Amino acid sequence: MAVESIMTTYNRLSVAFERGEGSWLFDINGNKYLDALSGIAVCGLGHAHPAVTHAISEQAGKLLHTSNLYTIPNQQQLAERLTQISGMDNVFFGNSGAEANEAAIKIARRYGHTVRNIDNPAIIVMENAFHGRTMATLSATGNRSAQAGFEPLVSGFVRAPYDDIDAIKTIATNNPNIVAILVEPIQGESGIQIPADDYLNQIRAICDENNWLMMLDEVQSGNGRSGKYFAYQHNNILPDVVTTAKGLGNGVPIGACLARGVAATILSPGTHGSTYGGNPLACAAALAVVNTIMNENLCERAETLGNKIADGFRKEIGTAPYVKEIRNKGMLIAIELTEGGSELAVLAKVKGILLNITGGGKVIRMLPPLTMTDNEAELLVNTLSQIIRVYAADERSTAFPEAPNSDRRV
Ligand code: PMP
Repeated sequence: MAVESIMTTYNRLSVAFERGEGSWLFDINGNKYLDALSGIAVCGLGHAHPAVTHAISEQAGKLLHTSNLYTIPNQQQLAERLTQISGMDNVFFGNSGAEANEAAIKIARRYGHTVRNIDNPAIIVMENAFHGRTMATLSATGNRSAQAGFEPLVSGFVRAPYDDIDAIKTIATNNPNIVAILVEPIQGESGIQIPADDYLNQIRAICDENNWLMMLDEVQSGNGRSGKYFAYQHNNILPDVVTTAKGLGNGVPIGACLARGVAATILSPGTHGSTYGGNPLACAAALAVVNTIMNENLCERAETLGNKIADGFRKEIGTAPYVKEIRNKGMLIAIELTEGGSELAVLAKVKGILLNITGGGKVIRMLPPLTMTDNEAELLVNTLSQIIRVYAADERSTAFPEAPNSDRRV
């Protein structure tokens, strides 16, 4: 059996990019694509943003990294900026979303042991949640097929349906071992699921009543994308722990676990760490990202442009029988189809649009750069609406003659 030199963990589209600029990506054959996915919320400022390029070039010429054994000045600056924006007290830096969530899970467990005196602390997590692929975050993730074959999973997670407060109350009554809830303010991987407006407020109240830590995974929803820097800021509440990554580095790996109050006091020297977490290069990138988002009012931009894009789709295809729902919170945008749709990423790519299909193959997910222009947004709405119309009319073979048969997700 032939073995690929890269482990086959990904369903890759057959395209290789060599350059990006703003909302556009250019492949090795010189074709250009409108990036409506930003690498799944990675490049919120678009590609090759000058502020990020400048910050990392300058830092690379000075110092890449030494060690977390020493003070790192720009890590300190980034921590101050993030705590000021989030209302949290302090932060642990890792290199990814999964690592940020690992830190949160460890904080919750240690909080259970040291503050609550619980021998087997448990964390409530949600159905269809996504928190990462490391063993603890995979165990917290609510996707059975992602977990299959990796048992034994990490124990200490109790599952509730998403956007269901009664289920959480029932667990509160029946399970004295609960010490925390870990939840996405908007579920990303399961197809941009937006809960009731007061969902987070209600969770805050239950956490207060029961001495649970309220832990929010803002790896996908954070960094301006929802219309606020963090999505919980729509609710005027403060969680105890917030994790983020992806858009924080605009393509440079960095993850952050922010904490407040007692949660911020749990980890002490020697209890947790990461060689590369919060290295000067990643912090230089993230500082440039955070400052650009705040200085250029990109949270507000995400709200207005996201609504405009979603309204544009509603106008074009909102009443079509094959469209079940069009929803958005800022620039987390989904078109849910009544059936099928898994081929749409390939067909859209052929027409020069990059997006992603998730939510059981029925949800077209768009996470465009917050810096996308009005004209690019209009191009996205018009081109994709047309692609969906043709797809729904099942005229693919004539409408997409350029799509080679081999161009399938493998
Ligand atoms: N949490 C959420 C909500 C995510 O969307 C993701 C990535 N899709 C992760 C965690 C994991 O992040 P990473 O791949 O950087 O480990």
